Amino acid sequence: MRAAVYASTQSAPGKWLSIGDLPRPVPLPGEVLLKVLACGVCRTDLHIVEGDLPSIQPHLIPGHQIVGEVVESTVPALPVGSRAGVSWMGGVDGDCWFCRHQMENLCDHPVFTGYSRNGGYAEFASVRADFAIRLPTDSDPIQIAPLLCAGIIGFRSLRVAGVQPGERVGLYGFGSSASLAIQVLQSWNCAVYVITRGESHRKMAASRGATWVGDEDARPPVPLDRAITFAPSGKVVVGALSALRKGGVVAINAIHLDQMPAFDYDKLLWGERQIRSIANMTREDARDFIAIAQELRIRPAVVPFPLERANDALAAVKHETENGSSVIVP
Ligand SMILES: [Zn+2]
Ligand SMILES: [Zn+2]
Repeated sequence: MRAAVYASTQSAPGKWLSIGDLPRPVPLPGEVLLKVLACGVCRTDLHIVEGDLPSIQPHLIPGHQIVGEVVESTVPALPVGSRAGVSWMGGVDGDCWFCRHQMENLCDHPVFTGYSRNGGYAEFASVRADFAIRLPTDSDPIQIAPLLCAGIIGFRSLRVAGVQPGERVGLYGFGSSASLAIQVLQSWNCAVYVITRGESHRKMAASRGATWVGDEDARPPVPLDRAITFAPSGKVVVGALSALRKGGVVAINAIHLDQMPAFDYDKLLWGERQIRSIANMTREDARDFIAIAQELRIRPAVVPFPLERANDALAAVKHETENGSSVIVP
């Protein structure tokens, strides 16, 4: 099969992946083999190929927003011909303290799709069936793919931030995840304040119905109840904190931050303000968000790339050159 492979020893900036032929994977018991119809590109993929996250596999096929058709199955629940989506959480041990306490996103022995095991920048991918989300066969794979991480994690961020209907919510950054989260927030009648660098992202936020849009140095005109930060920058987190009312929450939707700068506790955190991180997702988050996305008919803006141009797809995420989610279509 054709696949885009990351090898930490051979990777160079802009040419992170090499495209070549690999043997088609063979599904183990409990797994299904997917013919990949589309695979979304996430900022986490960029963190992996740029070495911000430690390398686990010497040769890795990235990609954790996979929409595929089951072509080989070892489980009755997902027969051949059915369609499934796979996200970042590719498996858990099921018996650690966190799994036993409904926190499988924090599992001590997790499997991460496209990181600790091969992902979807390829023609085929073998995945654990119990972590595959059944999808309707009439859905457009290219439009579903960005929902599977950007969408689910964005949705989890709203949960972790504790967003209530009608609240004032700040979104710091307006890439793939934020542009999906705003659609959920609008259905909850929230007023959304978007702070983002990049003229095109500000325009997109305005066109998606943001109440107020500002550049990276701007300050929302009202105190925020909640803020979600998407940029991999600690400075942005502190900026969001400074915009909160007492008791407000900043949720950090980023697997990697450059650094948290020192900040004034008395002014910024005192008053029961909170900073929370978002780690991974649960299968419940995935199921709930996919259901909401279908109900709200969330259709992300997408930019398709053929597999041979996987590096360009990553570059588009890195440089924020596209107004839409990069999706690889093998
Ligand atoms: Zn566990
Ligand atoms: Zn992701």
